Amino acid sequence: MVSGPVSEELNFVLIPLLAASHIIPMVDMAKLLAQRGVTVTLVMTPLNAIRFTAVIDRVIGSGLLIRVLELQFPAKEAGLPEGCESADVLPALAFRRNFFAAVDMLQDQAENLLEEMKPKPSCIICDTHIAWIAETADKFQIPRIIFDGMSCFTQLCMHNLYIMKDQNKIPESGIFVIPDLPDRIEVTKAQLPGAFNPGTLCIQDIRDKIRAAEERAYGVVNYGRVWCIGPLSICNNDNLDKSQRGNKASFHKEDSLIKWLDSWQPESVVYACLGSLGCIAVVQFVELALGLEDSGYPFILVIKAGEGQAPIEDWISKNGFEKRTKERGLLIRGWAPKVLILSHPAIGGFLTHCDWNSTLEGIAAGVPVITWPLFSEQFLNERYLVHVLKMGVSVGSQGVMHLGEEKKPEVQVNKEEVTKAIKKVMMGKEKEINDRRKRAKELGQIAEKAVEIDGSSHLTLTLLIRSGKRADRVGYGSVENG
Ligand code: UDP
Repeated sequence: MVSGPVSEELNFVLIPLLAASHIIPMVDMAKLLAQRGVTVTLVMTPLNAIRFTAVIDRVIGSGLLIRVLELQFPAKEAGLPEGCESADVLPALAFRRNFFAAVDMLQDQAENLLEEMKPKPSCIICDTHIAWIAETADKFQIPRIIFDGMSCFTQLCMHNLYIMKDQNKIPESGIFVIPDLPDRIEVTKAQLPGAFNPGTLCIQDIRDKIRAAEERAYGVVNYGRVWCIGPLSICNNDNLDKSQRGNKASFHKEDSLIKWLDSWQPESVVYACLGSLGCIAVVQFVELALGLEDSGYPFILVIKAGEGQAPIEDWISKNGFEKRTKERGLLIRGWAPKVLILSHPAIGGFLTHCDWNSTLEGIAAGVPVITWPLFSEQFLNERYLVHVLKMGVSVGSQGVMHLGEEKKPEVQVNKEEVTKAIKKVMMGKEKEINDRRKRAKELGQIAEKAVEIDGSSHLTLTLLIRSGKRADRVGYGSVENG
């Protein structure tokens, strides 16, 4: 399928990793580039494209030059269930290896597409997790820019951790300080991403391949060109864009959601959502739900869709949780219009798993956070929110959930800890809470300013486009959302 118009001008080809949390910021960036007169070609697969049709059609309708080109996703060949085209719909995180195998198989199709593409691509902006793009871009002599969905803070932590790892200096147990950072950041090995703390279902070979492609693009990691653009979520400024971002919201009546939110005092509602990839075991969900209930605050709790959620639904109905809390609790099953909810004045606290999109969305909304990292680099983002930005309180999670272990019947955080962290953010000691809330608001304002005309993100986007114009001379670099 090909949709959208094409012009003979600059053509930026955007290739996201096939996961909601990677496509969402790329689509936002596509809009921003198109608003600045660039033709944007987004490359994805049919079922992913469907999730973004409403948003992209509206952009095309407004006269901007965006089109979507599709690659057929080899789910069956890679041992994935049919229709499984995105990392956030995998039956379990253990299927990640199959998923990356399918992504690898897309190279030939992508190359055919690039060969025939008109106008010729000026540059490719590709997700950092797609390793084959290094070879493909070299083959077609198209400048390649990496899209990296991680924060610069986390990049720096990871860089320093790689040095520690090479020197065998990461202690097996106990707290240690990540060296060479302006802030004192304490972690344990159990809280580090898989590259430093592998589980039994290790995907180190995939990681190494990605890192090798990254290094080839950067030269040396620290010396690459970096364009920090964003927070990208802010480009969704009407309610329709906010509610359709990433997927069709499973909450069909946005009006009634807004009415529900309108019925609460400003800054009184806790919004709890643990992202699109993470699944937690039912025993852990119970602690989250009861912790929210015991806090006494009105709340929205998102329950991810999927077969694996049956035990959670079972508990909800047997325990009577939904009935008992219906006066002040709203359960959203499936895809929640997150940015729409976060931007509502009734939201007073955001309980998040601290992946970078959600982290940035919390910052952009100016809402203090309750942090509950689950896996990957989320503990580093938590440290950033709590210890650097000082806009959050941790629930006290101790270690990452390893691949394939997400349903392990283990309680890492109990309901008392959940309630305590919520209360600390929502009421706490007068001065402490006011400072935290004030800081969150200030950071939200800084984020808004960054994306305004002549703000840092706006100016950086101009530089990125100019680099695309000088395509034959541009070196390689990376784009960061933030
Ligand atoms: N998201 C959403 N509704 C949901 C779940 C997720 O809109 O019910 C969006 C969220 O706003 C963010 C992305 O999906 O933009 C999730 O990305 P993130 O990096 O925070 O977490 P991940 O899903 O990768 O764990």
